[in-house]
Amino acid sequence: MNLGISGKWALVCAASKGLGRGCAEALVQEGVNVVITARGDDALQSTARALRALDPDVEVRAVAGDITTAEGRAAALAACPQVDILVNNAGGPPPGDFREWDRDAWLKALDANMLTPIALIQAVIDPMAARGFGRIVNITSAAVKAPIDVLGLSNGARSGLTGFVAGVARQPRVAGANVTINNLLPGPFDTDRLRATAVGAAAKSGKSIDEVLAVRRQANPSGRFGTAQEFGAYCAFLCSVHAGYVTGQNLLMDGGAYPGTF
Ligand code: NAD
Repeated sequence: MNLGISGKWALVCAASKGLGRGCAEALVQEGVNVVITARGDDALQSTARALRALDPDVEVRAVAGDITTAEGRAAALAACPQVDILVNNAGGPPPGDFREWDRDAWLKALDANMLTPIALIQAVIDPMAARGFGRIVNITSAAVKAPIDVLGLSNGARSGLTGFVAGVARQPRVAGANVTINNLLPGPFDTDRLRATAVGAAAKSGKSIDEVLAVRRQANPSGRFGTAQEFGAYCAFLCSVHAGYVTGQNLLMDGGAYPGTF
């Protein structure tokens, strides 16, 4: 299937590794020019080189910076001639016990996983509508649908974003202008983030990291973790010309882990 987005420009946030990188790779493979961001410049430049190697005709720009700051967002937006596609992503908040989270911990989580995507949506949505094409995908979490108690910061902040998106996506001047906003909800995907959470669980339980990961794989109906490539392919489809009638949705990608019918 030709996704029909070759030559468009995408801003893919937090994309040197993991799910963001998977999205950038899939878009580049469809001929989309990308601006990718991450905090660490070394990993970012290495990812940019790998993306250029996928398609030498595609332009790849790498902007190092913290996307949760106003400066980081301004630099990312300035590097993108026009944002036809926005993939919102940032690191997830740390796990913990809600009794220990102070206001500062909450503000950090809200900044990263709610207010940053909202600020970027605000910056790009009207120009998208004026051009008659826009695709926004927010990487959230399966925890929005099935909360994980130790990830309360994530459950809370991402649910705030989800509520906001539900309203904006349905505005006639957004949906009616061929601008879609959807949330992709990853379950367990094989990335550094997942491995980092396994390190904590291993230390607590006295098991090895491999044992913890094996138990988690078996606990999933598919018997495995998802891959960043699978995630990227779904994201690219949502960004395609074919997905203009899909908006305001929370799309779970979890190997069947969520036990409900709907
Ligand atoms: P990852 O650690 O593999 O990659 C995170 C990427 O984000 C890296 O490129 C990192 O440099 C970049 N990044 C982090 N904070 C940033 C910031 N402030 N500014 C710019 N770049 C930043 O993580 P991942 O597994 O790809 O996770 C991506 C998102 O999806 C996270 O919010 C995570 O909580 C969420 N998520 C992941 C899983 C999973 O199983 N992997 C499941 C549910 C939710």
